[in-house]
Formats: sequence, C-alpha cells, structure tokens
Amino acid sequence: MRPKGRARGRLRGVAIDALIDAAALAHSGEEGLAAVKASYAKRIFEKANIKKPYEYRLIYCRKCKKISPIGISRRIRLRKGRIVFRCEICDGVYRKMVSKS
Ligand SMILES: [Zn+2]
Repeated sequence: MRPKGRARGRLRGVAIDALIDAAALAHSGEEGLAAVKASYAKRIFEKANIKKPYEYRLIYCRKCKKISPIGISRRIRLRKGRIVFRCEICDGVYRKMVSKS
C-alpha cells in the first residue's frame, strides 16, 4: 500500500534530504556513496508516488537515470535560446527552452 497523508509528507522530506546529501557527496568526490544515496531517494519518490520538485529532477540524467549533478558529470551550455545539459556518463543531451522576454 502506498503511504498517505502525513506519512507521505514525512517521506517527501526524507527523500529530498537524501537527494541533497547525494548531491553534496558527489561534490565532495564520494561518487559511489552518492549513487547509493540517490537510488535510495529515487526509490522513496517512486514508492510514495511523490513528484520531485523541478530543480531536484535536474540532478538525475534523463537518459541513463543516474545521478549526474551539474558541474560534476554534467555540462551546461547556452545555445540559441536553449539551455543544453550534456551528461558526461552517457553523452545524453537534454535541452530546455528559455522563453524570450
Ligand atoms: Zn546520463
């Protein structure tokens, strides 16, 4: 059974904390540990059916589904009004349009 109500809110906090820890570990060079922590966070998000906030969704690569923080294993470029994220693990590219103002 999926957790509901308060339990779900609590799980959301736990999962986001784990994700932040994973990103911090990746930045301090502990990539193995970061991957374990990220997969743990991902499992909670999936199990409790919680939507990840957009900025946290960007931590994972869209193609290989691994944790790939910006500045560690992902490069960002601006090109023709788009933000281009390139994963260095799988060479996957994710483009995000930037609205012109
Ligand atoms: Zn990737």
